Amino acid sequence: MPKPHCFTLAASVRAHWFGLLLMLTLWLMSAQAQAAPRLSLADLPTGLLGKFTTWTQEDTDRLTLGQAQQRYQAGYFRPGPTAALNFGLDAHPVWVRLALVNPAPGPQIYRLDLGPIWTDQLAVYLVQNGHLLQTWQGGDELPGAQGVLPGLGVGWTSVLPAGEFELWIHAQSHDPLQITLQLHTPEQLDQAQMRVHYAYGALYGFLLALAVYNLTLVVGLRQQRFLFYSLYLLCFIGANISYTGHGLVWLWPDQPGVQRYVILVLMVLYGVTGLLFASAFLELPQRLPKVQRGLHVYALLALLGMTGCVVANSHLAATWLAFAFVSSFSVLMLALGAYSLRVGLVAGRCFFAAMVAGLLGSSVTTLAVAGWMAFTPVNFHAVEIGVLLEATLLVLALAQQFRQDQSKRLQAEFMAQHDALTGLYNRRAFFELSKSSWALAQRSGRPLSVMMLDIDHFKHINDQYGHGVGDQMLVGISQLLSSSCRAGDVLARWGGEEFMVLLPETALGDAYLLAERIRQTVADTANWPPASPSACTVSMGVAQYGAEPHLEALIERADVHLYQAKRNGRNQVVAG
Ligand code: GH3
Ligand code: MG
Ligand code: MG
Repeated sequence: MPKPHCFTLAASVRAHWFGLLLMLTLWLMSAQAQAAPRLSLADLPTGLLGKFTTWTQEDTDRLTLGQAQQRYQAGYFRPGPTAALNFGLDAHPVWVRLALVNPAPGPQIYRLDLGPIWTDQLAVYLVQNGHLLQTWQGGDELPGAQGVLPGLGVGWTSVLPAGEFELWIHAQSHDPLQITLQLHTPEQLDQAQMRVHYAYGALYGFLLALAVYNLTLVVGLRQQRFLFYSLYLLCFIGANISYTGHGLVWLWPDQPGVQRYVILVLMVLYGVTGLLFASAFLELPQRLPKVQRGLHVYALLALLGMTGCVVANSHLAATWLAFAFVSSFSVLMLALGAYSLRVGLVAGRCFFAAMVAGLLGSSVTTLAVAGWMAFTPVNFHAVEIGVLLEATLLVLALAQQFRQDQSKRLQAEFMAQHDALTGLYNRRAFFELSKSSWALAQRSGRPLSVMMLDIDHFKHINDQYGHGVGDQMLVGISQLLSSSCRAGDVLARWGGEEFMVLLPETALGDAYLLAERIRQTVADTANWPPASPSACTVSMGVAQYGAEPHLEALIERADVHLYQAKRNGRNQVVAG
């Protein structure tokens, strides 16, 4: 009877499996029940402890510690969902409970870190066997920067008793309410502080150096974009030292009124200076005047709004305004970055990459704090890493733009002095460059001559062979003149097909010989320019400096000689 046997076997195996599965599930569930865990100090996990806590939010009334404990007993507390507890803007006050056990025979010292220093009110109660052993009060509404370690946040070094005990934390804030709970041994705290000192020293040092350097550029170059870039960096540094607690501990420990608004005001200023920088950098007044006006109005409204909030002492409105403005600012900057790419700005790629780096950094930090990404030190500090990248890329963008401006300016200067076709000097430059030789000739009586050249029947050449050939002929003549002249001579294209040469230290005879040599060379050349079927001749007038009061008068004389050469039948030099 193999079949029933098989069936029985299969059924019994299945029953066994089922039993096993049931037992496993029950065991897991019991393990889960035990996993409302009492953390052992001997076995502390690294990182944040949010997942080991339970918490509840107050509805309307402030709960006492006793009432919070009753709520806990009644099962109102929920397990912490993420390593970093995040309750958002203007959240209801929260109670957080962390159950611990110290298995050592005696007390141990730990620093309990709670996280951001901007929480308005904080209280921590250490309870053992129903007895309140210790209480700490803090938050930035209290003077004295209680428990704040710059860069690490707010917390307290405490003597934790042997045995089982609980920490009850009460926190309340109009600002984003976050609790990033951690326990550090004194050694770990030392290391963490050292890391923080080095990291912030490097961050502020780098950004300050950039800001100061660009401020000196403002003095030297008088360009707004360097000023706005420096202010943008300085506002970031200001906002950063405000929210890391450096400002609170060093600068305004006893002014909760300042602490309440300083981060929010600096956030708005950061956004405003960022927009001013972007509009100067992208030359929005010329490219997109309407957008630029819109941005300025937007920035002005944010400033006025924030001023109103501070004057009216409306913390909550200031918080909403600052966060809404900075969020929209990031999106606007990214859009401006995309625009700079689209219009093919020289430094557009750098600017766009900078905006992406800044936005990525702040997004990663926001996601880490909100619990949607792992709360690692790198993720938490991504905003600072992003700003370092952004600041560096923006300096590169500024440098690229500066280089481009420089080459445009040089090009414009060149164009203002030179003829575009032949590359010779124009009239203006000719007079400018002739000044010193003229003055020397006047003062010392050294000989000086001018030579004027005009192509014969050039109109006819143009008509017969086209303007292209005419142009090549002009270039060819200019090259011949350049190669025939000495280093101190000044050579210019005077008009359409007229050229002028100033010959310092040259008497009339030598000037005539030079002119005659040039005339002969042109006349002897059968194809001018080489690849064309045309030939041409030139007429020239030469004059030596006599008693003329100014250079124009000498040129006038050369022009008369040139006219004479034309009248005599062209292809000749007349000197006098
Ligand atoms: P003449 O022997 O009396 O000097 O006669 P011409 O035809 O050389 O003199 P005219 O002043 O009547 O004509 C000069 C011509 O030069 C007219 C103009 O079209 C031409 N021209 C001026 N500038 C340029 C230029 O940059 N390129 C070319 N291809 N032609 C030019
Ligand atoms: Mg001519
Ligand atoms: Mg002419």
